[in-house]
Amino acid sequence: MSRVMLNVTDIPAEGREFVFEDPGVWTAAWKEFSLPYTMREPLRAELRIVPEKDGFLVRGRIDGVVAVPCSRCAEDALVRIAARFDDFEDKPGEQADPLDGGHLAARGKTLELDAGGLLWEHFELAMPVKPLCAPDCAGLCPVCGGNQNVAGCACKSKTGDPRLAILSNLKIERKK
Ligand SMILES: [Zn+2]
Ligand SMILES: [Zn+2]
Repeated sequence: MSRVMLNVTDIPAEGREFVFEDPGVWTAAWKEFSLPYTMREPLRAELRIVPEKDGFLVRGRIDGVVAVPCSRCAEDALVRIAARFDDFEDKPGEQADPLDGGHLAARGKTLELDAGGLLWEHFELAMPVKPLCAPDCAGLCPVCGGNQNVAGCACKSKTGDPRLAILSNLKIERKK
């Protein structure tokens, strides 16, 4: 997601809600990082930010549908994103752990939350490591590279038949 900085300095005690509905902030980042994603249902994100003593409680959600290449056949796999998360962002300088990649930064007396970075992190967590177009995707033929979901190729029968023959022989022997 593109860089989106929120000024969180004067958020009232009951908190404030921020809504992100511009699909461009996602698609621009996919283009920048050369990610082969396309949006099928617009991604919409919400952040509810509540000030606490030493930082901010951030409750967020991201919803939408993204098409990504199937990890077996490379055709479109539809991924429904429905991420829900709670984060605590420490105020910079207060018990700040330099290794804990916080998204809060101070600019003079202004406190800014890197909402783009935070949402991007949770979007990536919501993406499956091995997306599939269908749970039973047959993948590509290891011999000719053809998509085995579409039609059986000639090499499938060549490599498949001898193995099947052996298996059926074994079954017959066990029955005896
Ligand atoms: Zn597939
Ligand atoms: Zn083949």
